[in-house]
Amino acid sequence: ANLLSDADRQLVDGVSLGQRRALAKAITLIESTRADHQRRAQQVLTALLPKTGNAIRVGISGVPGAGKSTFIEALGVWLIEQGKKLAVLAVDPSSSVSGGSILGDKTRMELLSQREEAFIRPSPSAGSLGGVAEKTREAMLLCEAAGYDVIIIETVGVGQSETTVAGMVDMFCLLQLPNAGDDLQAIKKGIVEIADMVVINKADIDKQATAVVRAQWRNALHMLRPASKNWSPPVIALSALHKQGITEFWAEVEKFREILRSTGEFEQKRQHQSLAWMWQLIDAGLRQHFRLHPRVQENLPALTRSVESGHTTPAAAAYALLDYLKH
Ligand code: GDP
Repeated sequence: ANLLSDADRQLVDGVSLGQRRALAKAITLIESTRADHQRRAQQVLTALLPKTGNAIRVGISGVPGAGKSTFIEALGVWLIEQGKKLAVLAVDPSSSVSGGSILGDKTRMELLSQREEAFIRPSPSAGSLGGVAEKTREAMLLCEAAGYDVIIIETVGVGQSETTVAGMVDMFCLLQLPNAGDDLQAIKKGIVEIADMVVINKADIDKQATAVVRAQWRNALHMLRPASKNWSPPVIALSALHKQGITEFWAEVEKFREILRSTGEFEQKRQHQSLAWMWQLIDAGLRQHFRLHPRVQENLPALTRSVESGHTTPAAAAYALLDYLKH
């Protein structure tokens, strides 16, 4: 059944035609926390779903100052020269924690933001990281429906955000500085395991240090079992500022896509990501349903105290509370 109102039908058509205004409006609808907006957003997304999935989704992560915006701008301008359209989205954990934003300031990617072929959207600021990630995933689908063939998802190397972004892109790239020792931090955080490519930026500053760091990364990656038996994450060096190494970077992205497509892994990874996303939403929904349930709210404080004082076992309390959902 077609449940779309005329206005939403227009929105769907506008996005399909690649109209920027319609795309921006649809993303705003998705980011809204109002229940009626969320319902409409899901209908709009469902109508556009057949047009999604055709872009290559690339995640780019790095600490503040690593050169993410310089790199994305250089890459974006180059991609546009190659006849591509790109969208840049962000998952910014700081925006949900502090209300401020590491990624969101407006002067970033000035050249790119003036290009008709580029669509740049800062990280949504509302809600938890889970919420931000969910909105970014949906914004990504809208951008694909609008005909953008490259989606870049940018994030800061902080906390959970890198894993979150790796879970929504085809290829996850780590942008590193040629500082020896920095890699150890990434290894400790378990970030190395999710990298499909490591990029040493600012190679122009110190060629020797770059070579050392590159070798360290190669060794570190060598010790791990790669996520795919058909792809060993490459370590490349470039200079975003001098626009050197951009072509090589993109050649690796294309190679990655080709190899994983030919083995079926590309589609498998996306299917896996979609299902993981569905279950994440189910878990979140169930949790909310549970917490809002009147009998749970009524009995939770007493049972909490009872568990604290050792009069009820955690399991007995949990089962008693879960039982309220059945009635
Ligand atoms: P972000 O915080 O990761 O987005 O980093 P920016 O792109 O804002 O870059 C931080 C600083 O590093 C800026 O002053 C850039 O001009 C500089 N920068 C970025 N890439 C390079 C590079 O390849 N070489 C040099 N020398 N400087 C760079």
